[in-house]
Amino acid sequence: MKKLFTTKLVAALFCSLALSLNAQNDSLFLRQIHDEALVRGEAHENLRSLCKDVGARLSGSAAATMAVEWSENLMNTYGFDKVYKEEIMVPHWERGTVEKAWVKGKNIFQKMTILALGGSIATNGPLEAKMIEFKSLEALQKANKKDVAGKIVFLNQEMDQAFIQTFKAYGVCGAIRHDGAVEAAKQGAIGIVIRSLSIPIDDFPHTGSMHYEDGVEKIPAAALSTTDCEWLAEELTKNKDLSFVLELNCVNYPPIKSYNIIAEMTGTEKPKEIITFGGHIDSWDAGEGAHDDGAGVIHSLEALRILKTLNYKPKHTLRCVFFMNEENGNMGGKTYAEWTKERGDLQIAAIESDRGGFSPRGFDVDGTDEQVAFLKGFAPLF
Ligand SMILES: [Zn+2]
Repeated sequence: MKKLFTTKLVAALFCSLALSLNAQNDSLFLRQIHDEALVRGEAHENLRSLCKDVGARLSGSAAATMAVEWSENLMNTYGFDKVYKEEIMVPHWERGTVEKAWVKGKNIFQKMTILALGGSIATNGPLEAKMIEFKSLEALQKANKKDVAGKIVFLNQEMDQAFIQTFKAYGVCGAIRHDGAVEAAKQGAIGIVIRSLSIPIDDFPHTGSMHYEDGVEKIPAAALSTTDCEWLAEELTKNKDLSFVLELNCVNYPPIKSYNIIAEMTGTEKPKEIITFGGHIDSWDAGEGAHDDGAGVIHSLEALRILKTLNYKPKHTLRCVFFMNEENGNMGGKTYAEWTKERGDLQIAAIESDRGGFSPRGFDVDGTDEQVAFLKGFAPLF
């Protein structure tokens, strides 16, 4: 499936460059792109190596440093015009070694499966309190402070399965993770557990970024597996007096130096006009980051490799960027935007890939009506 995705990306890239060729030449070259990707593709092996040889690579970790070196080495094997790194500063948070939770009540003792949210503070030993459940962030915001104060908030908002595009369901629930700790603390809560942002009912909670706000008490925050959320919600209907115990020893360290990693084919006619494409090289620490976003960086690089292999000469500069720190700060993207401005680069188009290596369904496009119409003109070439 990812081969297909790669061919679509590289074809899109080619289309955005090559309209001066006539339609027949375009279709012949597109065939060569397909053949190179499908027959001699290197993306699967590169993705395997990133996931297995490097693995999880959260910003600021030793593995993220390894991922930077791995990326630069790989790019250097392909003989592009330029391979280089752009220095950035990234947050450095570590999950720690203790991540425990359990529920206590009359004749009840139940262990919970949790994952600290990225950026959470530690609990300083077991944190125990009564629990109060809300089905949405709005419900928490509207609650009486006296009902919430001193408790651990259980923010149990389900992802809406009515959305055929699960990313939309994820988007609706994103705020409980990002803002939950701040809103719960404003109501006087001493901790928060949110329903893991995932649709299946299983024992695998998902982490993700959250934030604190100046002037609002920082409270520890974790995601609870959907299986445990179902159980806990049911128990709370029978017994409001349950206690929740949470223990985390995560640590926030000062920001640390890291890099975006960049490979380029220099434009033959307009080298200062840039088409940027890429994904993010960092990933959360609890998995291998294959879909999020190993697939995005690897097939972006594969797109450049294919054009180089087919001896294509772009008029504009093609720049493939492995952005660091998308997950918890987006410092790679932000720094890149400032850096290109300082250099006087003219960005004429950009493609980002960060929705996993599934079968391609299309491209989202932002731009003026004219730009969107121009891009729609490529459709027959697919
Ligand atoms: Zn991502």
